[in-house]
Amino acid sequence: MADESDSPVEKLWAEYSLIFRDFDDLTLARWMAQTLSQLEGRGWRLSHPLLGTYRLAAQVAHDRQIWLKRLANVPAAYPEAPCCRAPLVPLLTRDVIESGLVCQHCGGTIVAFEDLPDEVQGRLKQWAEEYAPIHAVAHWDDRQRKGVADYDRAFENAAKEAERLLGVAGRELLPKLLDHYPVIIWEDQDECLEVRPEDVEL
Ligand SMILES: [Zn+2]
Repeated sequence: MADESDSPVEKLWAEYSLIFRDFDDLTLARWMAQTLSQLEGRGWRLSHPLLGTYRLAAQVAHDRQIWLKRLANVPAAYPEAPCCRAPLVPLLTRDVIESGLVCQHCGGTIVAFEDLPDEVQGRLKQWAEEYAPIHAVAHWDDRQRKGVADYDRAFENAAKEAERLLGVAGRELLPKLLDHYPVIIWEDQDECLEVRPEDVEL
């Protein structure tokens, strides 16, 4: 991960996070508890600025083990995450079958795929299995690229399909997950297929 932490984007986000590094533990815990109450009960785009801000705070809080110090009252709807004991804030990605739902505090698996409620597991599996071969087009090797008449067109078609499937996640999958979790975030972009959040309509 060394190359990632040295990337210009990583450096910029590290600079952004300085505001939270200047907070003392109590101020940080209170800010996060209040923000959690505002996030509660809704599905959020990963690209939403408030979420980006919360994720910065979450990293600082994780580094300082804020949640183990019990400095502020977390809204009652949030159970403790099994991975790091922070409040349960899960992220849905296209890798849900392999990685489950991802913790926004420690980056680990917060709900393993096999532990997802039965009524959403099947639908998520179907969605992720439909998405995987479309995403894979971005990673085709030379032989696969030469196997189609026009790779640029194949890439473009895959990007369009990814936009559609990400929209399905936001419209259909999120409400189902919200029946089971206090909040849910979804990855609303596909960087490998060059799908940006603004390309994904709800
Ligand atoms: Zn965690």
